Amino acid sequence: MLVDIVPVGDLPAEVKRKASAGLRTVYDCEVTVHESQPIPSGAFDANRNQYRAEDFIELASRVGSGEKNIAVTAKDLFYRKRNYVFGLAYLDGNGSVVSTYRLQTSSDGGFSERDADEIFGDRVRKEIVHEIGHTLGLEHCDNNRCVMNFSPTVREVDVKEETLCGSCQRQVL
Ligand SMILES: [Zn+2]
Ligand SMILES: [Zn+2]
Repeated sequence: MLVDIVPVGDLPAEVKRKASAGLRTVYDCEVTVHESQPIPSGAFDANRNQYRAEDFIELASRVGSGEKNIAVTAKDLFYRKRNYVFGLAYLDGNGSVVSTYRLQTSSDGGFSERDADEIFGDRVRKEIVHEIGHTLGLEHCDNNRCVMNFSPTVREVDVKEETLCGSCQRQVL
């Protein structure tokens, strides 16, 4: 499987590296990093001062050259009625998106002694692995250590591991 990472808007090189590393660690896949793309016109919602997640997925599917494609952006995303999303993917789709915007909160609530950069990097990898998991057909997992656990806040992201639990693994690997 080839996964193409599609950076959208300004994205630090470090984030691209973390994203590729996370995917390679968990899935049996090759990873490429696509040429950076401009923010899709029309994705911005001026009332909310946020960007529509679906537009980024559509862009990743359209320009990405992988069997699975993931847009990665520093912009703040929303989806329907939800205040914000860390990422979004359609089950079994070929496009997905992750936003680093809300993963940058420096504190992890005292969960670990690690520094802010490391915590941020872990979160980026987990959310990327999570969204690609959805594109492979995985739904949310009840195991709160599994990367497919639903994590609406960074607290839950910090608790879960970067890997799939045994049961999720058997479904995709
Ligand atoms: Zn999810
Ligand atoms: Zn699981």
